[in-house]
Amino acid sequence: MIWLAVELLVCWLVLANLVLLALYRRKLRLLWLEPTFKQPVILFESDDWGPGPVQHAKALDQIQQVLAQARDHRGRCAHMTIGTVLSIPDADKIIQSQYQTYTGIDLSAPQFSAVLTSLKNGWQKGLFSLQLHGREHFWPTTLLAAIRDSDELKQWLANDSSATEQLPSTLQSRWNPPISVADIALAVKQETELFKRCFGFGAEVAVPPTFIWHEQVEISWRSQGINTIICPGKRFVERQQSQFRCDQDLIVNLQTSQTGQTYLVRDQYFEPEYGHQWQDAMVKIATCLQLGRPCLFETHRFNFTDSAQACHNSLQQLQQLLAHALKRWPDCCFLTNSEIINLPQHDPDHVLEHGWRARLKVWLARANTLPRFRYFATFTGLSFMGWLLTLTFTHPKPSLTQSAQP
Ligand SMILES: [Zn+2]
Repeated sequence: MIWLAVELLVCWLVLANLVLLALYRRKLRLLWLEPTFKQPVILFESDDWGPGPVQHAKALDQIQQVLAQARDHRGRCAHMTIGTVLSIPDADKIIQSQYQTYTGIDLSAPQFSAVLTSLKNGWQKGLFSLQLHGREHFWPTTLLAAIRDSDELKQWLANDSSATEQLPSTLQSRWNPPISVADIALAVKQETELFKRCFGFGAEVAVPPTFIWHEQVEISWRSQGINTIICPGKRFVERQQSQFRCDQDLIVNLQTSQTGQTYLVRDQYFEPEYGHQWQDAMVKIATCLQLGRPCLFETHRFNFTDSAQACHNSLQQLQQLLAHALKRWPDCCFLTNSEIINLPQHDPDHVLEHGWRARLKVWLARANTLPRFRYFATFTGLSFMGWLLTLTFTHPKPSLTQSAQP
């Protein structure tokens, strides 16, 4: 009788585990194929920089000073990717048209030369990478229609239309449907051409505003030379107020999109203006390391431009974070996003792990981050078997040198 019960239990566990593995097979495979980073890789990504007052240029210069002071074990400075917005509303002309016609004013206009110069300087010094965030942070006709109906937005337009981060969040989503395929293609052509006109080279990396984008946008980006997309580990294709619709709920680093572009995941946040401290960011770096992933920190422009006090605090936090990270992880690396993407082909510092034992341990840790997987795996005993596997295969064996030591 006892044996029958044991047999039934074993059958149940085998069956339950097979069902669990079948249900999660696509995600588990993606997690296995995702490259494993064996040392901390730290990269800051700051969006929304574009046309703005001269104080923005000063903040960019100060960021460069902080980045230049921190060097990894290879002598490389800390790095920040700048997600650039290339145009803001031309308030005078829009008001003159009685809010009927949208006109923009772009980063190459003389009044923004200080910001453009600072961005270019940072790029030339190797401290900044420049990527496309959007010609505008919004869809112009959608914004114009909203302005016509809102006194608050009329005030925003008249007072400081460069502060796109002050717009209601839904209006900040540039690629929120419905927008026709032809309009998307034209807008992407215009934004990539403007990027080239501003910086002198073509954009290769894009980060969609508020992380709303879809396949048609990818196709147009692809045709204009964008080969990399920064994403939050998912693809949100639409939003209605605070409701987001997602068509891909797991995207991993270096995964190839259906249109042939490479995804890079930015899912850590370092926003001192929201109260994030360097100590919180250290925990995030440790978590990324445990999951064998690079740590891409999102740190928006507003942290450095909201006020002089905000800028001072954010720079201090950034400085502290870099100093403490270098101290705690002397082997950490500052890489650009294009260097991260090219690591499988070019990895002179052996950042990537190839040994299957170490990769197995990381894979199991990643699997536990899948929604509900950990719960089911505990229930079916899969977690216990995974733990046994890591204990058996990833326990370091004493080397001959070590055993010869007293
Ligand atoms: Zn943005």
